[in-house]
Amino acid sequence: MKSPVLPSRELLERYNRPGPRYTSYPPVPFWSTEFAEQEYRAVLAEVAATPEDTLSLYVHLPFCAERCAYCGCNATVTRHAHVVDRYLDRVERELALIAPLLGGKRKVVQMHWGGGTPNFLSAAQTRRLFGLLDGAFAIDRSAEIALEMDPRIGTYEQLVMLRELGFNRVSFGVQDIHPMVQTAIGRIQPIEQTESLYRWARDLGFASINLDLVYGLPFQTPEVFAATLRAITELRPDRVACFSYAHLPQSRPNQKRVDASGLPEPHVKAGLFHQALAAFAESGYSWIGMDHFALADDELAVAADERKLHRNFMGYTTRPTPHQLALGASAISDLGGTYVQNDAALGRYQRVIDDGRLPVVRGHRMSDDDRLRRLAITHLMCNLELPYNLGRAEFGTPVGETLADEIVRVQAFAEEGFVELLPDRLQVSELGRFFIRNLAMELDAYQKPGPARPLFSSTV
Ligand code: SF4
Repeated sequence: MKSPVLPSRELLERYNRPGPRYTSYPPVPFWSTEFAEQEYRAVLAEVAATPEDTLSLYVHLPFCAERCAYCGCNATVTRHAHVVDRYLDRVERELALIAPLLGGKRKVVQMHWGGGTPNFLSAAQTRRLFGLLDGAFAIDRSAEIALEMDPRIGTYEQLVMLRELGFNRVSFGVQDIHPMVQTAIGRIQPIEQTESLYRWARDLGFASINLDLVYGLPFQTPEVFAATLRAITELRPDRVACFSYAHLPQSRPNQKRVDASGLPEPHVKAGLFHQALAAFAESGYSWIGMDHFALADDELAVAADERKLHRNFMGYTTRPTPHQLALGASAISDLGGTYVQNDAALGRYQRVIDDGRLPVVRGHRMSDDDRLRRLAITHLMCNLELPYNLGRAEFGTPVGETLADEIVRVQAFAEEGFVELLPDRLQVSELGRFFIRNLAMELDAYQKPGPARPLFSSTV
């Protein structure tokens, strides 16, 4: 991958609208809080009616040893093992409510444990949870089985156990290696810790290792971030996610502890991301979607080249499944085009389960129009093109006809150099990748003009 040119400050400011990341369409704020448990049960019955469909499985494990100041996840700090045990009791009950409705032991081809900190679980708790899932589902031998790990509490023994259970993918949180940045975000993690865990994971044969970075953190100057990028590219993980830091202390009180005096200006933040693009390009990585990178021979990079990349709540994937079932507090399922979210409040999630009910707080059943737009947005954001014939096989009428007006608006970005117009498709240019959300928003029927906020602002 060659490194794309950084857009001018003027362009970045002109297209300074906040936009969804489109992990779902419509985005979560447009789902209904009236979506009831009965509807969830009805959707599960529909899944049961297609027993040959495979599943992806997500489990949310919200516990952490301490709260990092910059964190935007649904996480709960505890030092007590019994708190985790009680949570696992509820996940077990949730599973007991759901599994019979799915009509038998369904085949799982992808499983992801996210958090929080999944490796906060003890060995016994990890084995217990894996055993529960293994008992309720037919986990395919070639399934992608992944979890997120905090290297600060990761051990060699933990990795050995995970491999023994069948985990073959792992993602380590890094963010930035500089002590000054780490102090400002309340997460001290010496690089040696990350390196040890990484090398052990390699030695133990994990098929894919991902590292997470964050740009736009306080005191993250170009020199500071260069050191992080050097250390990470030297390790040579298969994949890297490089997320933008969103500083929203009003809605995330823990971020009040972040030393905001050092937050970079939007154009500096844009420069940091551009620096990441250059560093990964030089090291043989492909730029995937908005903010991911994969070694050029990684299946994600190959799929992106072949325009076959997909995306779901678990991230980019080459294996789309019709149903993603999610368990645990705050977890989001996508079952054949119906989104369902569990209560994020741990206490309420547990109480509802104790009452023998499913802890649904919102959901959305996609219309045909939603499905077509989701297809168009996902294809545009993953594969950087919009073939006008897209959707013909599934919907009878392709996007070029159904979304003709919207496509004209996306085509208009050719004047800025964001898209190239080919006879049968529009293609996103390298410059246009920086504005991919602006392009996608033109295809979104739910978007209304929002308040201006810089693209690389620390509050996006
Ligand atoms: S960043 Fe990760 S480890 Fe830190 S509090 Fe959030 S979920 Fe927990």
